[in-house]
Amino acid sequence: MRLADTFPKVEINGLREFTLDEIGDEHLFTSLETPMKADAHKMNNDEKKKRIAFHFREIMETLGLDLTDDSLNGTPERVAKMYVEEIFSGLNPANKPKIALFDNKYRYNEMLVEKNISFYSNCEHHFVPIIGKAHVAYISNGKVIGLSKLNRVVQYFAKRPQVQERMTVQIAKELQSVLDTENIAVIIEAKHLCVSSRGVQDDTSTTVTSYYGGLFKDNNKLTELHNYIFNNQFTL
Ligand SMILES: [Zn+2]
Repeated sequence: MRLADTFPKVEINGLREFTLDEIGDEHLFTSLETPMKADAHKMNNDEKKKRIAFHFREIMETLGLDLTDDSLNGTPERVAKMYVEEIFSGLNPANKPKIALFDNKYRYNEMLVEKNISFYSNCEHHFVPIIGKAHVAYISNGKVIGLSKLNRVVQYFAKRPQVQERMTVQIAKELQSVLDTENIAVIIEAKHLCVSSRGVQDDTSTTVTSYYGGLFKDNNKLTELHNYIFNNQFTL
């Protein structure tokens, strides 16, 4: 029996049935919200790190590694700390960036684009890195935010097990809510290491996803945005 046959089939979007194995390899996803348990935030960080370290030690030992070796001995604790405090810290709403708004005193109602925001995330199907760049734009509805906050919102949603399409929408929806405007655009281009280092082992392809809200649905605005991002190579 193939391993895939042992996974139950589930229905996605009513189209056809997929095995859970196929969902992972085709990077399908079921929700725009990160699927979280109801009691996700009951455990404190120290407890989480203890549990993850215990189980990661089990994985390493199952793989046959000798954890009495000094090089490997501290790895379970290092991985646990990295998961909770760094690469998956965006699962904890307490780490969501606090965003102060300013009045748009200068009546700057044109497009603001923050481009080439680099980020590291991880694929939720394989737990290996997604490396990419996000371009974020908004047209003010009377409020403005500090430029670094656009970057921080991207980093917050990147630091979760992710699917690129979901991450794109999550960033857009958060900025729409904070800036109280539909006029948000997010474009993400990323390389998925689960595609390059395993599976089809394609090292050159990248994935592009986008979200265009409000005025960004207008063709002229869209062309202007794409010109800033893709045709205007500004070098310092
Ligand atoms: Zn993957």
